[in-house]
Amino acid sequence: MLKDNMLQVVKSLPKIDLHLHLDGSVKPKTVLELATEQGVALPKSDLSSLKPYLQIEDDCPDLKSYLSKFDLVSQVLHTEKALERVAFELVEQAHSQNCKYIEVRFGPQLHRQKGLSLEVVIGSVIKGLNKGEQTFGVRAKAIACCLRHHSVEVNMEVIEAASSFLNSGLVGVDLAGDEASYPAYLFRSVFKIADKKGLPITIHAGEAAGANNIKDAIHKLGASRIGHGVRLKEDMSLFNEVYSRGIPLEMCPISNIQTKASDSWKEYPIREYFDQGLLVTVNTDNLTVSKTTLTKEYMILAKHFEFTTSELAQLVMNGIEASFLEVSDKKELKNICLQEYKQLEGKISEVI
Ligand SMILES: [Zn+2]
Repeated sequence: MLKDNMLQVVKSLPKIDLHLHLDGSVKPKTVLELATEQGVALPKSDLSSLKPYLQIEDDCPDLKSYLSKFDLVSQVLHTEKALERVAFELVEQAHSQNCKYIEVRFGPQLHRQKGLSLEVVIGSVIKGLNKGEQTFGVRAKAIACCLRHHSVEVNMEVIEAASSFLNSGLVGVDLAGDEASYPAYLFRSVFKIADKKGLPITIHAGEAAGANNIKDAIHKLGASRIGHGVRLKEDMSLFNEVYSRGIPLEMCPISNIQTKASDSWKEYPIREYFDQGLLVTVNTDNLTVSKTTLTKEYMILAKHFEFTTSELAQLVMNGIEASFLEVSDKKELKNICLQEYKQLEGKISEVI
């Protein structure tokens, strides 16, 4: 059973979030305000009636229902002002969780209905993140997502645009979207160029499809990190390779259960992956759609998998190690977190 002050300690722990989608994490109140400002029709005009259109309330029946929560928010993110605002507010939300570093991902091609160029979309998000960094002291970097249902040409444009922001607020590229219908190998040429341009690569894999997709992400697309990777255990030789090469997994427990990457907490493999020495990281995926926070994710691990506070702290350190930051920045971030752990030590010993 969890001790009473576990929640307090988890709230105070410094944290890291490497897998965080911009469009899935817009505050409901902001969606309401942006829609009103932009004249976008809403199914409901008050906040509490609007929330079910934006987030999973209790149980999520299927992936389709999960994805439907993006329909409304996707209509209001096509101006520089809106993109800058939601990026800024994401840093603010991180700050409220004592999260020290976030990597925020988004598909630049999805924000162009009103004619913005890819450079302006990416630039606006980075502007909001930079403003957030300065205001809240949380470090925040961008990851540009290619999308599986887009053509090679359209995704190639994303790589081109992203490369001009590398080391200027952007730290990597990703492949997101319908994993089951569009296998990774289709995008080989896209990520070959990304690699040539020196862009770090993470790929969503092993979430809605099997271990083979993880294999392709690593071998064919050059992924140095895997988004989710829940189904890695289906291929033990690949498991051993991921272990020996120290390839990080960006796991998102609450989302992984909602989208049925795992059918239940009992089957969710995070404890075995962690115990077997994989570089497991814990992230939120979509703050609004999944109705989650980092504190909630960590509390789930404590509750369902008996993670101790020192093990949770290890997950945070894994997050720093797995990040796309420069080595010197990782070191600095580790020091900041270790400093805070020391101050928390008294409280931690009470809950171990
Ligand atoms: Zn994701």
